[in-house]
Amino acid sequence: MGLFKKIGNALKKTKDAFTRKIDAILSHGEVDDELFDDLTDVLISSDIGVKASMEIVEELRDECHSRKVRKAEDVKVVLKEIIERYFSDAPHIDLEYPAVITIIGVNGVGKTTTIGKLANYFKNLKKSVTLVAGDTFRAAASSQLNEWAGRTKTRIIKHTEGADAGAVVFDGIASAKANKTDVLLVDTAGRLHTKTNLMAELQKIEKIIDREYEQAHKYNFIVLDATTGQNALSQINAFSEYAHIDGIILTKLDGTAKGGVIIAIEKEYKLPVVFVGTGEGVDDIEDFNPKSFVSELF
Ligand code: GDP
Repeated sequence: MGLFKKIGNALKKTKDAFTRKIDAILSHGEVDDELFDDLTDVLISSDIGVKASMEIVEELRDECHSRKVRKAEDVKVVLKEIIERYFSDAPHIDLEYPAVITIIGVNGVGKTTTIGKLANYFKNLKKSVTLVAGDTFRAAASSQLNEWAGRTKTRIIKHTEGADAGAVVFDGIASAKANKTDVLLVDTAGRLHTKTNLMAELQKIEKIIDREYEQAHKYNFIVLDATTGQNALSQINAFSEYAHIDGIILTKLDGTAKGGVIIAIEKEYKLPVVFVGTGEGVDDIEDFNPKSFVSELF
């Protein structure tokens, strides 16, 4: 299935919630206060959030005014440009190798599944991959990752439950160096921000990667579950207190009408979305292309 088609399918519910309502408002009506109020309501109901929605419509109103937009349908063009701008303001990431990609995020967002998909993704790019079972907190985490390693025929470095996560990462790096591995994918515990010790563990992992693997390109990607809507924003806040975030992986875009949350994220944080999850299968991950995303949405 083509790239755009897959994202297009995954976005179906979000589009239903977002585009159709916008089209309905813009199809009949003049460019007046009521139209902008209705648009604000649609953005809010699409999980863009109250604050971001109001600011977006304020920007839209100003721009429509200065560009003397008279027709309701032209408002859509301006809205699309504004949203595109949020995405293009985020830095673009071109992965360089050898890479260490640390996957962070709360439990249940799809971290382990994403690591499995990424192992497959990089193998398709003819890159060698090693997984590091850095979530030593939950017994199930390591065995779940082990299953993905088996399914994707990928080397995995793991210790027993309760082991020091830093030590697993250390061994992972040693293995990556010895085997000249292109991509080291590091799983981490799904630390809720209340668990200060786990957050400290995350900092320790970062420190070990910096210290032990100087020549590697390091990326911290936070996994966010699109179905949680506005919660995703508070997760970015919580994690950025403890870790540098280089990019976002947005999972479960299929089956949710809340994909609009990504617009709020781009507006607030200017973090690049690197990949999106479009299903539970091993192939259900896509490079994120902001331009095609916005065109699909509209
Ligand atoms: P973790 O706790 O963050 O490691 O989360 P898991 O990887 O265990 O995933 C939690 C659930 O979300 C599992 O049932 C996955 O199959 C599901 N999941 C992960 N990514 C996606 C996705 O992109 N789309 C859908 N529909 N489900 C997903």
